[in-house]
Amino acid sequence: SRAALFDPENRVKITFNDVAGLDEAKEEIKEIVDYLKNPAKFTKLGAKIPKGALLIGPPGTGKTLLAKAVAGEAGVPFFSLSGSDFVEMFVGVGAARVRDLFKQAKEKAPCIIFIDEIDAVGRTRGRGSMPGANDERENTLNSLLVEMDGFATDSGIIILAATNRPDVLDSALQRPGRFDRQISIDKPDIIGREAIFKVHLKPIKLAPDVDPRELAAQTPGFAGAEIANVCNEAALIAARHDKESVEMIDFQDAMDRVIGGLEKKNKLISPEE
Ligand code: ATP
Repeated sequence: SRAALFDPENRVKITFNDVAGLDEAKEEIKEIVDYLKNPAKFTKLGAKIPKGALLIGPPGTGKTLLAKAVAGEAGVPFFSLSGSDFVEMFVGVGAARVRDLFKQAKEKAPCIIFIDEIDAVGRTRGRGSMPGANDERENTLNSLLVEMDGFATDSGIIILAATNRPDVLDSALQRPGRFDRQISIDKPDIIGREAIFKVHLKPIKLAPDVDPRELAAQTPGFAGAEIANVCNEAALIAARHDKESVEMIDFQDAMDRVIGGLEKKNKLISPEE
């Protein structure tokens, strides 16, 4: 199961071309590609290469995609794990897994370590609602901090972590030498949505009436993940109707479906909204 968690042999093929919109974030994160490809350029001048950056933004906006694209552009292995994997773990398992991950990463450096949902382990310590219940999470967080401090800045490991709750993060994570960079990733505006549609329309056989601009105009509030979902759903709907190509009406049906799903999810997760 370890191999499945960290699959470094699985070289990433995703590049910045697969990430639509997010121009500012891409610009900022390009620097990290440069650190990975050419560390000497920085270290020979006495610069300390940052160890990590936090990608901050709502779900489905492309944080994971962007982290993978960094690995793809730099041509380095991508190790990933999710903070939520560590919740409800047996004592010592989370911390051991973090140590194990860093050991593997050091062997394969230069590389990227990606920690999704870092807030699940990285919440402010010592404020658990149930005393004792959060001990293992805190152990895991502590071992992450120890590991981050324990490698040299020129070791070729860069840690990217994603969260949509920067407000709950333990401030220790954001100290210099840890995640001292923040890159914010917002939901796309109409221009961004059009660009994301264009990426996800590429593999689809489209009828002449399909207009990415119109699709972008009809999907305010959608994140990239939902746009990808709409495109695939539209193709499924068209196929179910034995069509030769996917028409605008199929996209409209798909949008209704995705909106319906979102409304349900919002009701379940946050009744106050
Ligand atoms: P979460 O916080 O829920 O993990 P995330 O921000 O990491 O979400 P991703 O997992 O990167 O989001 O996005 C899910 C999918 O949505 C991607 O694999 C991709 O297909 C699509 N997607 C999201 N954002 C973009 C984008 N900017 N350009 C192209 N595709 C996107």
